[in-house]
Amino acid sequence: MTFEIRVLGDPVLRQTAATIEEIDGRIAQMATDLVPAMYQAEGIGLAAPQVGIQKRLFVYDIGQGPEVLINPEILESHGEWVFEEGCLSVPGMSFEIVRPKEIHIIGRNLDGNEISIEADELLSRLFQHELDHLDGVLLLDHLEKPERKAALRRWREMRSAIPDSGELRDPKSLLP
Ligand SMILES: [Zn+2]
Repeated sequence: MTFEIRVLGDPVLRQTAATIEEIDGRIAQMATDLVPAMYQAEGIGLAAPQVGIQKRLFVYDIGQGPEVLINPEILESHGEWVFEEGCLSVPGMSFEIVRPKEIHIIGRNLDGNEISIEADELLSRLFQHELDHLDGVLLLDHLEKPERKAALRRWREMRSAIPDSGELRDPKSLLP
């Protein structure tokens, strides 16, 4: 099946996704379908809620082939790193955001096996960004209030300038 990527303003992006109790054929199929949607959008990660599915799962590929992480959880985080982050669900915008530099994340793969990854810099950032999507958090929530208000104003202006908003894609999005 093909997915449409939901953008800021869609209430589905603001909900907390449900834990996946059983990794069955439907979950596997969904993960498989998310991968081409991620590539088509030129993203390096895509979380299920971004296509309207309220499940704790995301796919990613930072150049080493597609991977799936189910029910991810961050156990530890260290340091600080500023990085300019974009989002497929907030196309056309990016912001410098401070987050922990290194994290220890666990989750499951499609076989149900536990995955444990020590991630740094870009991969760490990607995981934190995707995990935010599973909790209904978007980039803008990391901004200070005035910056956030200005961003929302800019967003509304951009969207009203484009009649078919579904066509808007930012090839420069650094993260989904
Ligand atoms: Zn995103």
